[in-house]
Formats: sequence, structure tokens, C-alpha cells
Amino acid sequence: MAQETIFSKIINREIESDILYQDVLVTAFRDILPKAPIHVLIVPNILIQNVNQVKQEHEMILGRMFIVAARIAKQEKIDKKGYRLIINCNEHGGQEVHHIHMHLLGGKKLGPIL
Ligand code: AMP
Repeated sequence: MAQETIFSKIINREIESDILYQDVLVTAFRDILPKAPIHVLIVPNILIQNVNQVKQEHEMILGRMFIVAARIAKQEKIDKKGYRLIINCNEHGGQEVHHIHMHLLGGKKLGPIL
């Protein structure tokens, strides 16, 4: 069984977090250590550890993550100027929390990623 992370506690509201959006599939909350003026994490409510664990049955959840990212970008007024979506996977990808999550970063011109 995969190990639940701190994100499950946020989703279940067992710990404080600045939740911007929640529905039956996903939750979005502000990153505790923002790397940009706007830094939001969009996570599935169920535990999928990383992109390697993604299965056909998760299609709807993954689609919802993009829909929510676009909705929050608009809400935070960064949609026109733009933003970056990042999903890290495992050690080389820099993943620290092993509950798949999409970073939504914006609010300033971001530097090159590569
Ligand atoms: P990653 O390196 O892709 O696994 O990103 C994990 C992100 O989770 C980091 O940007 C952390 O700042 C963020 N994070 C860790 N704990 C919390 C928390 N309790 N609330 C909000 N964000 C968190």
C-alpha cells in the first residue's frame, strides 16, 4: 500500500492549508513555500504517487487537474500574461511529496527551466 502524505491531511482538512478549490476529484491549495507570487498545488483527492502510477482509470482526474489549473489561473488573474504548470516525478524530477501534484506558478516572468 502506498504511503499517505501530508497532502492527504490537507485534502481531508486535518491540517491547516489555504484551499482555493475542492471537488470530488481534486483539491487546490497554496504552496506553503511559494516559488513565485502565485504558487498553487493541484492534487487528486486519491493517492496516486507519481506519473509512473498513472492509469487509464485516472483520465478524468488528470483532466480535472488541468481544468482547475486554468480556472485558478483566471481567478488569480495570471491567465493573460501566462504561467507554468509543472509535475515533478521521483528523485531526478525533484519530487519531494509522493502524492502526484501539479504546480501552478505565475505572477512574474519565470526564468528558463532548462
Ligand atoms: P515537489 O518538490 O514537486 O514534490 O513539491 C512539493 C511542494 O509541496 C513544495 O513546493 C512544498 O513547498 C509544498 N508543500 C509541502 N508541504 C506543504 C504544505 N503543508 N502545504 C502546502 N504546500 C506544501
